[in-house]
Amino acid sequence: MKKIEHIGIAVKNLEKSNQLFASIFGKSHYKLEEVLTEGVKTSFFKSGPNKVELLMATNPESPIAKFIEKKGEGIHHIAFAVDDIKAEIKRLKKEGFTVLNDVPKKGADNKLVAFLHPKTTNGVLIELCQEIE
Ligand code: ZN
Repeated sequence: MKKIEHIGIAVKNLEKSNQLFASIFGKSHYKLEEVLTEGVKTSFFKSGPNKVELLMATNPESPIAKFIEKKGEGIHHIAFAVDDIKAEIKRLKKEGFTVLNDVPKKGADNKLVAFLHPKTTNGVLIELCQEIE
């Protein structure tokens, strides 16, 4: 795994949170994207080399809706950049981690993504992501 690609934060109201994080970073988001298959609307902020992804559910079945119901708003996942997501999935499964996606899926921001189940990672949802070229 390489660097942290972004930190994902679950929010209830994307418009309000966009304003909030624009105040924190001193500039507004650079991208808005809806991922229909995940039932989320996302926005991305950059601060120096760091990226934050805000996620809002667009329907009650969305994983973000369920997360907020259980835990409230807050840090939802940490995403790490990888060069070869398929190789990483294979390696981590061999190490005994529960990988939620055997086949990487298309996520926001032009990435192939896969998640590690938090029950095998000290309660932290970890996203692997590989830039689609
Ligand atoms: Zn993410």
